[in-house]
Amino acid sequence: MRVSTATSSCSDSRVFTVVVQGYGVAQPRTAERSINVPFSRLQSLMQSISQLGGKVISVTPASDAAVAPATPAAAAPAEKPAPKAPAKPAAAVHHANVPVNLYKPKNPFVGTVTENYSLLAEGAIGRVNHITFDLSGGDPQLHYVEGQSIGIIPDGEDANGKPHKLRLYSIASTRHGDNMAGNTVSLCVRQLQYEKDGETINGVCSTFLCDIEPGAKVKITGPVGKEMLLPEDEDANVIMLATGTGIAPMRTYLRRMFEPAEREKNGWQFKGKAWLFMGAPTTANLLYDADFEHYQSQYPDNFRYTKAISREQQNAKGGRMYIQDRVSENADEIFAMIENPKTHVYMCGLRGMEPGIDEAMSAAAAAKGLDWAELRPQLKKAERWHVETY
Ligand SMILES: Cc1cc2nc3c(=O)[nH]c(=O)nc-3n(C[C@H](O)[C@H](O)[C@H](O)COP(=O)(O)OP(=O)(O)OC[C@H]3O[C@@H](n4cnc5c(N)ncnc54)[C@H](O)[C@@H]3O)c2cc1C
Repeated sequence: MRVSTATSSCSDSRVFTVVVQGYGVAQPRTAERSINVPFSRLQSLMQSISQLGGKVISVTPASDAAVAPATPAAAAPAEKPAPKAPAKPAAAVHHANVPVNLYKPKNPFVGTVTENYSLLAEGAIGRVNHITFDLSGGDPQLHYVEGQSIGIIPDGEDANGKPHKLRLYSIASTRHGDNMAGNTVSLCVRQLQYEKDGETINGVCSTFLCDIEPGAKVKITGPVGKEMLLPEDEDANVIMLATGTGIAPMRTYLRRMFEPAEREKNGWQFKGKAWLFMGAPTTANLLYDADFEHYQSQYPDNFRYTKAISREQQNAKGGRMYIQDRVSENADEIFAMIENPKTHVYMCGLRGMEPGIDEAMSAAAAAKGLDWAELRPQLKKAERWHVETY
């Protein structure tokens, strides 16, 4: 009854057209070609182009069609009725008026860093910063909505002496920005660091961002992304599964739902149930934890916050507590919520989290006589299963 995780990287439906120069075997440096690529492979294509000395001319959305065609859900056996996921329920996310690609790599917006501070407490593993950019003065004004991403082009050149390519980052602020003035964007960035041949390698863009000082100018592209948009329905239910910096879009949703200044300004009063599952290695690595605790204390009927702290908590088998263990523990309630067509599930973080979540959902579904391999495509088709992993 387990769901194969082989298709999990295809769970995002967007397709982008990348126009690239001088990329590919025996391609002359001036030859241009268009490559259609699913969102899940966009980042690795960019890296490959960069490594092979190609030049990205443009990145544009190619289509809203699904990459991994949502397999038409086979009818469930009569004795095991799967919860019906309506094709386009009232709860479907609206995509109208969502800004996309206001600034492209050829002509990026230049923002100014206003703040850059660590989100981690004493004793945490690694480095994760909250970084805010002033977006004033653009024509057009760079604006965005909750759930989108922006691109950052780090200063400097790659090993081939070419300007660095953009990296995508999920936006961590609401459309109003942290200062509520509507002219900033914030990110939550983990510095990539790994060991290779006895040497510590620092990720180019994440290190550039974590080190950046207020006042510095940064090239910004986008916004992009329609996969992680919130439903407009105030009665929707929102289940959030986040690990690490995957909390960024969830922070935007929760601020929009529960931050007093946001509620006052956005004319949208969330009345449904929001449930955040957050995975982190240590308590010191929890991001925006005090804000979420506060929202839970202020809105106990509307917000639930469940943490999986792998190096400090144990699962039922005595192993480390990961987010999928919390999903398993709460499977009955999660599935009861999912049966409601107004419930949306959002997953964000490192791609490695997907197999564990899939496994937990498969086991939980099986315990209820359901087949997750059938149910998940139905939810995806109904625009209720939203995944952005990287
Ligand atoms: C839609 C989307 C949203 C994102 N949102 C965020 C976000 O909110 N916050 C955030 O921090 N990141 C986010 N990312 C990831 C981000 O785009 C960058 O990939 C990340 O910051 C690393 O970029 P870098 O330039 O620092 O690393 P690079 O210098 O580009 O290095 C990355 C490369 O290093 C190599 N590498 C990595 N790890 C290892 C290893 N262990 N051993 C050997 N080689 C290795 C791989 O070749 C990899 O491609 C997001 C990505 C996407 C696609």
